[in-house]
Amino acid sequence: MNKPMYSVGDCVEKHCEKCAETRGHVVASITKRGHVSRVSCPQCGTRSPFKSPAAGATSARAGATKTGAPYDWTRTYRIGQTLTHPAYGVGEVTALIEPKKIDVLFQDRLRRLVHSQAQAQPQAQVQP
Ligand SMILES: [Zn+2]
Repeated sequence: MNKPMYSVGDCVEKHCEKCAETRGHVVASITKRGHVSRVSCPQCGTRSPFKSPAAGATSARAGATKTGAPYDWTRTYRIGQTLTHPAYGVGEVTALIEPKKIDVLFQDRLRRLVHSQAQAQPQAQVQP
């Protein structure tokens, strides 16, 4: 489905700050992906950027605090915590395996990840 959802000249609902009300705005420009990027208010003529609510995956990141912070292997996780892995998506910690390994249940399957890997301390101690 790569067809543009909107085209220039279409009407979209948006809140106009100048008019202080939500009204139909005229689409002024479209991104390559077919998302509305700019609209103009037919009432006052103000042009403003438009964030398409259909942006989906990218906008979901804004509310990621509840669904799990990005996976960070330097952190220490606990059972029940959720995290978002860059490749596997959102997962929940189901078990602590070893001091530094966790089992995380992702949408497709369980995966073992490392955690609590604090930045390696330089072990080269200079002997006098
Ligand atoms: Zn306006």
